Parts: sequence; structure tokens; C-alpha cells
Amino acid sequence: MKKIIQAVTFACAMLGAAGIAHADAAHPKIGFSIDDLRLERWARDRDYFNAAAEKLGAKVFVQSADASEQRQIAQIENLISRGVDVLVIVPYNATVLNNAVREAKKAKIKVVSYDRLMLNADIDAYISFDNRAVGELQAQSLVALKPKGNYYLLGGAPTDNNAKILREGQLKVLQPLVDKGDIKIVGKQWVKDWSASEAMSIVENALTANGNKIDAVVASNDGTAGGAIQALAAQKLAGKTVVSGQDADLAAVRRVVAGTQAMTVYKPLREIATNAANLAVQLVRGQKPAFNAQMNNGFKNVDTLLLKPVMLNKQNVDMLVKDGFYTQAQLAGK
Ligand code: BGC
Repeated sequence: MKKIIQAVTFACAMLGAAGIAHADAAHPKIGFSIDDLRLERWARDRDYFNAAAEKLGAKVFVQSADASEQRQIAQIENLISRGVDVLVIVPYNATVLNNAVREAKKAKIKVVSYDRLMLNADIDAYISFDNRAVGELQAQSLVALKPKGNYYLLGGAPTDNNAKILREGQLKVLQPLVDKGDIKIVGKQWVKDWSASEAMSIVENALTANGNKIDAVVASNDGTAGGAIQALAAQKLAGKTVVSGQDADLAAVRRVVAGTQAMTVYKPLREIATNAANLAVQLVRGQKPAFNAQMNNGFKNVDTLLLKPVMLNKQNVDMLVKDGFYTQAQLAGK
């Protein structure tokens, strides 16, 4: 009897260790919890992710928290009780999901942080673009156009770990020029929820405070860049004050073509979504995914896959058409 109990305990431990205690490995169930599907880029992430997961035999349950941390926690709890095998999470607030993650782990569910790193939580993997490189590309592009002058730093959401990494990348490029006296940082602010309207009022106030003397706005994504450019346009400064961005949102790419936004950063979303689906399924199947980095999230060094972002300006926007991200007609506004 004792031997049988030992054998059963051992078998359970093995299954548990492989993470396949309750999984149908051929048809894994994936819970995809997304901060906010109302934003253009995340809807694309979802579509590419679903397509890739389906090809792998997986079934995806998608939830959008619409920028609410309570809603995201409730949705994750719901996905856990639906018996998913792996959770892929784009956190709204990087710091509040550790309890939900603990519950998932207790239920032998793997947890993957998608695009944004969850902090102080026992996650299994992280996949993103190299956000420090994104910040560097943004600052480098603006410095090439305005090597001297007044710079305003328009950060991302304070709840998003990416916002901080982007700022680090931006400052890596800007700080030496500040030290040299070529560039002056006349102000900086984080934009709650990456909101375009909040970005607009921040830049309106910054223009007033500086008598319109702002040469560059280092905007951390395209949504906030759009808000900044609206504020600049009201002062007839659109296209004169250079503005960065990120995501290659359709409206932003059109602004790049029109010359009111200096650049954006293209992150091939098919690549992150496909890799994430693959990684999630591999974790459920007890296989070892390929990683190329480790990131400390305050709890541990997390196995990480970082993809390469691409600088995009007027000269190379065509690459979006070649890559199938947009059609020529979409870029032309038809
Ligand atoms: C993402 C950006 C996105 C922003 C707002 C960031 O974490 O990396 O691509 O624009 O969130 O949703």
C-alpha cells in the first residue's frame, strides 16, 4: 500500500513539474488577458495571437480589462476557474497582479507576461520588444533633426513598466547632450493610461510655461504623440517642433508621411504574437522555449524573449506595405 501511495505521489509530482497536471497538451487552453483592446495595436496583437494559437491546436479565451485593474484581476480569476492551462497577460498595472499570479501557479497554470513586465510576481516567461532600444531610437531620431534646443519628455503610463524602460533608453541618448549644454530638458511628465487627451493638455501647459519654445517632444508612443501634435497644431507648431512615437498606428504613419510627426517605431506585431502563442503552448507541453535574455522583475530573473524594433520615418514607411502591415491604399487614407 505504502509503495502504491509513493508511486502515485511521484507520478503526480512529475505531472505537476511538467505543468501538464490537468492539460490536454494537444489542445491547450490559453487565457489572454489584455489591458485594453480599445487601442489599435492590442486588437492586432489579439488577432495575430489567435491565428497562431489556433494553428498550434490551442483554444484562446480573450478578455479586455479596458484600463481597470479591478476588472483585470476579476477576469484573470475567471480564466483560472475556467481551467485554462496558461495565462498570457498584458498587465494594466504592473504591480498589482502578484496575488492573481499566485493563484494561477497554485492551480498549475503557467503565466506569461506579454509586452509589459509584471513586477514582483512569480511568472514563467516574458516576451516583448527591446523597449530600451525603442527609447533610444526615439531620442536618436529627434536629436538628428534637432541637435540643440529645448526638449520635453512625454512619458508613458506610470503603471506600465515599459514607460520607465523607454525613458531610460531616451536618456541614454539625451543625457550626454544635456551635460554638454546642447539640449535642455524643459519638463517631463508621465501620461496616465497613455491617454491622448491627457497628453494634449500636458503639452498645452508645457507650451504656455515655455512661451512656445519647445523644439522637441519625446513622446513615448503614437497615441500620446497624437495628443501632443494637436496641442502643437493649435500654436502653428506642428511639423516645426519634432515629435517621436511608437507603434506605427495608422494615424501616426499618416502624420509621418505628412511631416507633422518625425518618426514612429515599428514593432512587427505578428512576430511577438506568434512567438508568444508558441511559447505559451511550449510551456504547457513541458518543452523548453528559446529565450535570449533575462529580466529581473523584483521577484526573480525571468526568462525573456526580446524582439527587435525598427525606426520608421518618411524615408522608409514603405516597409510597412512590404511587410503586409498596411496596404498602400490604407497609407494614402483611402
Ligand atoms: C506598449 C506600447 C503601447 C503602450 C500603450 C506599451 O506598453 O509597449 O506599444 O503603445 O503600451 O498601450
